[in-house]
Amino acid sequence: MNPSNPPTEAATKPTSVPAAAPSNFIRDIILEDLKTNKYNGLVQTRFPPEPNGYLHIGHAKAICLDFGLADEFGGKTNLRFDDTNPSKEETEYVDSIMADVRWLGFEWDGLFYASDYFDQLYKWAVQLIKAGKAYVDDLSADEIRQYRGTLTEPGKNSPYRDRTVEENLELFERMRAGDFPDGSRVLRAKIDMASPNLNMRDPVMYRILHAEHHRTGNKWCIYPMYDYAHGQSDSLEHVTHSMCTLEFEDHRPLYNWFIQQLGIFPSQQIEFDRLNLTYTLLSKRKLLQLVEERHVSGWDDPRMPTLVGIRRRGYTPEAIRNFVGAIGVSKTNGSIELAMLEHFVREDLNKRAPRVMAVLRPLKVVIDNYPENQVEEMDAVNNPEDPNAGTRKVPFSRVLYIEQDDFREVPPKQYFRLSPGREVRLRYGYFVTCTSVVKNDKGEVIEVHCTYDPATRGGNNPPDGRKVKSTIHWVSAAHAIDAEVRIYENLFTKEDPNQTEEGQDFTSNLNPNSLEVLTNAKLEPSLADAAIESRYQFERLGYFCVDPDSKTGRPVFNRTVALKDTWAKIEKRQPGKA
Ligand code: ATP
Ligand code: MG
Repeated sequence: MNPSNPPTEAATKPTSVPAAAPSNFIRDIILEDLKTNKYNGLVQTRFPPEPNGYLHIGHAKAICLDFGLADEFGGKTNLRFDDTNPSKEETEYVDSIMADVRWLGFEWDGLFYASDYFDQLYKWAVQLIKAGKAYVDDLSADEIRQYRGTLTEPGKNSPYRDRTVEENLELFERMRAGDFPDGSRVLRAKIDMASPNLNMRDPVMYRILHAEHHRTGNKWCIYPMYDYAHGQSDSLEHVTHSMCTLEFEDHRPLYNWFIQQLGIFPSQQIEFDRLNLTYTLLSKRKLLQLVEERHVSGWDDPRMPTLVGIRRRGYTPEAIRNFVGAIGVSKTNGSIELAMLEHFVREDLNKRAPRVMAVLRPLKVVIDNYPENQVEEMDAVNNPEDPNAGTRKVPFSRVLYIEQDDFREVPPKQYFRLSPGREVRLRYGYFVTCTSVVKNDKGEVIEVHCTYDPATRGGNNPPDGRKVKSTIHWVSAAHAIDAEVRIYENLFTKEDPNQTEEGQDFTSNLNPNSLEVLTNAKLEPSLADAAIESRYQFERLGYFCVDPDSKTGRPVFNRTVALKDTWAKIEKRQPGKA
């Protein structure tokens, strides 16, 4: 699509909302505009990231709204890079943002850059100067701030406010030509220095910045400010509903002022609440600091709330979209529990992730009465939630690994897993009874000996009706694949990581235990060729995803999210702890 040639065909007429869709005030505005035919039945939105960092889960909320609402009404969505700030913007970010939007499951109609509009924006600035609505100001940034006044005091007019149109035109042209150094002059809109809204006190439209731009190179040395560029870009693209976060509410009068003065397409700005998550920071600037100070391994560290990070962690686009749909939109900023996001991740992975057996902290088990060289292929169900997922074979043999946590030499009350004299079920295997243990010189159990009951093959109850209270997972030692498993906890220890002691910044709230690397994990052999990014449920442990650091024969898995651990809860409740 070409902005000078905006879409004309009417969107397919949506008159009602699907009954299941939760109500949302933005949808109500769109419905009303369709009813009154304000935009001739068109719905055009845009997602306008500044390419100065990687997208995070907060952006996912904006993306789902921009694309989702347009889709719902047969409308269109542009991806527009808000690249008016040359010093902070890079092509690396442009590429990552496009990949992230697609990964989330959306495809844009038009792809634009605010820098595409620099010529048009310049012409409009000249038009405003000619109309006596803009002037070149020689005050320094500091002076401008002093002259602006405060919330309780009106501002003062700049001594340069009443320059003639001719003088303004000449100075603005010379600003563009590069005759003046950075910061020496600005172009300001001439509105009202006494306005109760500070944004209306002659806001700056252009600043001088001799900096190379990632797309326009050295063509420009003046750059438009966000407030001047954004609404006009929306208008050029015939954006009907321009959604942004609440901090722009006070900018809306200015957004409308420029559009009215120029007499251009009347885009409308609608504000909604920013997503905040507990134990998480959603600010590109702060995320960049985490990367630069090497608190994390990069933008795609699985602990990062960036889309590349949570993708590497194993979160699915479907889970994120469902989460965003469930939190809805409002007109007040709040904070959402990280646990709620994790809930949606579990819910989605529960449906789709194949089940496998993996032992993270192995303890050797020898089944003394099982034939020395025998291997049986046991049938295991791939996904009880998905009847089409089928079954696979898992080898069983005399020497196995179980989780260290699944054995206690002295079992506490309510602990029903393996312990001396106790019988448990090995999932898909056999019932086994612990007969003895082998310890090292420190007194730690390093090997557990058991006997098995051949009448329980497949892990089924024996004919005598005997039952066991616990089922544990295992991996055959001779067939196991060695793997590294990375366990993640919250990146921050505080619900609000910005809340710090005096003189400290948010990095003082980093969780020192947010990453635990287990280098001795044992996986069932079906995982030998697991593809990067494929996701599994390790039975009884959680959801895990193959990391790109994997090498042939030695996969690396990230824990996406744990299953709910009922034992941990019981243990916490017990006064003496086991
Ligand atoms: P940051 O503070 O992280 O840099 P930003 O708002 O400056 O965020 P932009 O690239 O300018 O980032 O944002 C693109 C769009 O995403 C904007 O419409 C913005 O309002 C929206 N957005 C950014 N962060 C959030 C968030 N936490 N929740 C909802 N929408 C967000
Ligand atoms: Mg920004």
